[in-house]
Amino acid sequence: MNDTPGIIDGRIPERVTLRVRSLKPYTSELTSEQIGLLAEIAEKYGAGYVHVTPRQTVEIPHIERSYIDEIVKKLAETGLSPGSTNRYSRNIIACSRWCLFNAHPMTGIAEVLNREFADREFPGKVDISLSGCDFSCVRSRTSDIGVIARAEVEITDKKCKKCSLCIKEPLGCQVDAIQITDDGVEIDTERCIRCGFCTNVCKPGSLKVLSRGFDIYVGGRGGIRPKEAVYLGYVPEEDELLDTIRRILKIYSEGAVEGERISDLIDKQGLAIIGAWK
Ligand code: SF4
Ligand code: SF4
Ligand code: SF4
Repeated sequence: MNDTPGIIDGRIPERVTLRVRSLKPYTSELTSEQIGLLAEIAEKYGAGYVHVTPRQTVEIPHIERSYIDEIVKKLAETGLSPGSTNRYSRNIIACSRWCLFNAHPMTGIAEVLNREFADREFPGKVDISLSGCDFSCVRSRTSDIGVIARAEVEITDKKCKKCSLCIKEPLGCQVDAIQITDDGVEIDTERCIRCGFCTNVCKPGSLKVLSRGFDIYVGGRGGIRPKEAVYLGYVPEEDELLDTIRRILKIYSEGAVEGERISDLIDKQGLAIIGAWK
């Protein structure tokens, strides 16, 4: 197995696959310039096609090893970098910042984390996935560290017009937590998953976001031993979220042995080992 970040051995010994991620100007996004360069590299050095991976990286297969240094220099000019393989941190991913359902856009947080942790070596694979709402499009609940943005909703004194938009799919409440009564609108707080969708459609402002924050999950994984992540806690601020993730990674780096993932550390020592961040 190749130990250089981003280089994956191919089926033909002299040829490798290059895994590439975008570190700037955006993470989880590719600019048209970057897409053009990837196409050019695939055409000139590869087989004329690329593969887009689930972790928002692009693989360029069938590249002759001798061209790798030349290609990496070209990639760097547009903010692309090889990486996200073996025990090096996986690309930290976020859902799109233009999605209507975002309780909080997550790409900026992914960018900060990728700047800090891209190509950092850990005891094992580390997936960090940041979702803007409970749909969890980037699979936060099966990642080593998963984050889901939340929006706490309040009922205001603005008169409900009974338009019912907040209870209708696709943009209203997905979990039947809202009731429209003769007296106005009511929220079942047991059912409410704090997604904030209802506030996006309520034109009179009867429903409003009271506060935003982040739920953190740890110890999830996909692959041949899939596992759902466990809920760790809620933090209201972006800075606190970043510090929490840094602390979890530190505890993991110091506490796990080679090959172990965060879920293995939790199995061995209990969730309290990760909960030490509190
Ligand atoms: S997780 Fe929510 S905010 Fe993110 S892309 Fe999916 S639906 Fe949109
Ligand atoms: S915030 Fe609560 S009430 Fe509003 S749409 Fe989401 S789950 Fe439903
Ligand atoms: S709370 Fe807002 S969106 Fe829901 S029925 Fe009333 S006015 Fe319409």
